[in-house]
Amino acid sequence: MLKFGQALKIVLGDTKPMKWEWVVLSRAHRRVLAEDIIAQNNIPYTDNSAMDGYAISTKDLKTVPLELKVAGVVSCGKPITKRLRPGEAMAIMTGAPIPEGCDGVVPVEDTELVASGIVRILSKINRGRNVRYSGEDVRKGEVVLERGTSIGPAELGMLASVGRKRVRVFRKPVVAILVTGNEIIEPGERLRPGRVRDINTFSLRGLVERFGGAPLALGIAGDEKAKLLRKMRKGLNSDVMIISGGVSMGRFDFVRAALTSLGYRERFWKVAMKPGMPISFGHIGRMPIFGLPGNPVSSMVSFLEFVRPLMMKLVDRPIDLPEISARLKNPIVKKDNKRHFLRVKLDYSDHKYFASLTGPQGSGILKSMIECDGIAVIPENAKSLKVGDRITVQLVA
Ligand code: AMP
Ligand code: MG
Repeated sequence: MLKFGQALKIVLGDTKPMKWEWVVLSRAHRRVLAEDIIAQNNIPYTDNSAMDGYAISTKDLKTVPLELKVAGVVSCGKPITKRLRPGEAMAIMTGAPIPEGCDGVVPVEDTELVASGIVRILSKINRGRNVRYSGEDVRKGEVVLERGTSIGPAELGMLASVGRKRVRVFRKPVVAILVTGNEIIEPGERLRPGRVRDINTFSLRGLVERFGGAPLALGIAGDEKAKLLRKMRKGLNSDVMIISGGVSMGRFDFVRAALTSLGYRERFWKVAMKPGMPISFGHIGRMPIFGLPGNPVSSMVSFLEFVRPLMMKLVDRPIDLPEISARLKNPIVKKDNKRHFLRVKLDYSDHKYFASLTGPQGSGILKSMIECDGIAVIPENAKSLKVGDRITVQLVA
């Protein structure tokens, strides 16, 4: 059977990034930059004060206390043309430009006004003290944000700071989600024997949104080929299609057959992993299509391990989830040569991370995904593990 690593390579194989579009800054949160952002100016633009106080020349400050003549007031937003002369100080506000001739700011707390126009400096400062230099945040010509950066609050602030009103971002990949199964009913419907409420439309939709895509729910298709085809056709203009269920060995698993009649070129079907063994991947035209197992946990885990990396590649982002090393709090029994993906909760004590299983790990136990901080990856060649053994955990929370 195909190893996980080989399968992932096939999935990522010939993925090209999405096209880009403009968005105004106020709509750019959580989008992904499709351009490098280059600063057109130094920021701060001019040297300015980090404190409310008195701008002085440190050459004058041989001994303290020292009385200086207040030669002016520098406030924010106004350029200052006056030059400081020996024996003078200028009152200055935080953020106001440093006048020529000054090379430090004494905070107002370290001064006393002795008479009108005369200030007493009580403590010495070094050259450059409380001065924010031009370009100390950003230098003109510097790449401040790279293509492929996800735009969070700080990035929004930086884009504003460098004067961008709109930015080029990758289009959101539209990910069609089709669930199958004659037993599947809408969440609003009453449970009857043999019926199962549709979980996957919702958990997969959440995952698509979490990783920057636009979900397109195609609904529940049942298990007849004609119905499957009708629903599948509605997703053919998407960027990615996910079909849950109907790809196993059951008598009514017609998904692959239906896909084939739409021109599906399957690249693989089964992967040596747990959960999630029956996974079909291929293309119709250029569109990647995933046939994921219907079990709710398997479909979420196989999304995280296959669909998410593909979505990252579509917007030029790093493919790997952040990983940490943790020590097991539960023993793990493993007898096969598959890669296992276990759901764990993490805690930190004694300078170490500890991972405990989120309860029973059956692929139908959705509770195992609740309060899951990460996915423990147990490699193919690992045997059973003991309490205290080290494992690698991908952070998903
Ligand atoms: P399948 O992959 O179609 O053989 O389905 C495997 C298991 O997952 C079966 O027990 C299905 O009832 C269940 N299942 C499939 N699709 C869904 C869904 N959308 N929501 C909840 N359970 C599902
Ligand atoms: Mg089914």
